[in-house]
Amino acid sequence: MNMKKLIITNSSLSFYPGKVVCVGRNYAAHAKELGNELPEFPIIFLKPSSDIIFSGDKVVHPEYSDELHYEAELVLLIGGKIKNASDEEAENAIAGYAVGLDMTLRDLQNELKDKGHPWTLAKCFDTSAVLSDFRLKSDYKISLKEKISLKVNGLVKQNSLLANMIFKPEQIVKYISERMTLEEGDLIFTGTPAGVGKVVPGDKIEAEIENINKLVTEII
Ligand code: MG
Repeated sequence: MNMKKLIITNSSLSFYPGKVVCVGRNYAAHAKELGNELPEFPIIFLKPSSDIIFSGDKVVHPEYSDELHYEAELVLLIGGKIKNASDEEAENAIAGYAVGLDMTLRDLQNELKDKGHPWTLAKCFDTSAVLSDFRLKSDYKISLKEKISLKVNGLVKQNSLLANMIFKPEQIVKYISERMTLEEGDLIFTGTPAGVGKVVPGDKIEAEIENINKLVTEII
């Protein structure tokens, strides 16, 4: 086994990354900027754990796309196995938080959407899931009044309150657990605010959630 461990800040605990479950269109302003309707239920897709890289690693731009987009997101770490979770179990299953990037091939995604095909190849490619270190909930309980922000080459592109999420973290965990078992080390990307855009090789990205963590990466 050659799996990379997640590193947890302020703690000796570490986890093997499991499946990566992602929520689409979870901020109204972002759904609108891409011309999408507001979802009635969370829109769910997956990424393989082999797509994960960490702050300081580089995002490799696939050659078969001309439109690589950044999406800064709050990422939840699941601390134990749950299935059909109650509200309380969903809340308790969240062990920590990070800031992450759901890197997306927007041209491919639009093409696949038009054809009615799954988004898989637009969302799943090596280095498409970038993570900061995690902050454990036992150390700090997140407030939705906190800001999530992203800069490209020092310019602010995304800046929102987590409170603008349509579906809140516990609701998302509960919803997913009604459809698939969540296990220790699974990660949930909770969607991106407005301001997504294209990056090209050489661009440097910084993303931050106040009081949680910060990540840096470069496109190559
Ligand atoms: Mg996303």
